[in-house]
Amino acid sequence: MFNDKRSKKIILVAHCLLNQNSISDNTADFPSQFEEAVTLLMSYQVGIIQLPCPELACLGLDRKDKAGGKREILKENSRIRNLMQKEENITILKSMAREQVKQIEDYKKHAFGVVGLIGMNRSPSCGIDTTSKDGKEMKGKGIFMEILENEFKRKNIEIKMIGVETSSIEDSLERVSGIIGKERGK
Ligand code: SF4
Repeated sequence: MFNDKRSKKIILVAHCLLNQNSISDNTADFPSQFEEAVTLLMSYQVGIIQLPCPELACLGLDRKDKAGGKREILKENSRIRNLMQKEENITILKSMAREQVKQIEDYKKHAFGVVGLIGMNRSPSCGIDTTSKDGKEMKGKGIFMEILENEFKRKNIEIKMIGVETSSIEDSLERVSGIIGKERGK
């Protein structure tokens, strides 16, 4: 089964890596995709699974404040984090996480390679190494990534997680190569 041309390798990515239109106002670094990262993943023939955007799902495109884009980024991110922590939003995030992990279980059941997950550092929802809290960028995961990680653990699935930043292209590409297990340019 599945002995066709597919690579049988997949990776999960934060929604905005493939769709910058979902990002909070005044923070998009690309018109559409994080082009260099997508091109690199394509060169490694890894199927890209686009996670849902948790903030879009819970707060909408304007993140419940039309003036949010005028605020200093870390302050705005921290405001968004506070909203994302509300009980009704946590319920949505848990449901989204369960759905994603269910799909990954199925891929694993059929012996597909799950390369890992790429999040967006500094994000209050999708950060991996850093997130935004109390007006600062600090170590730790975003709220959605924390919930997703717990759901993977609950199902005894080990998954590598890395964070990238659209404003730091070279460093991000090194990390993407690393999670694939390749050296840049090889
Ligand atoms: S980092 Fe996460 S919450 Fe923010 S725009 Fe990207 S996918 Fe949405």
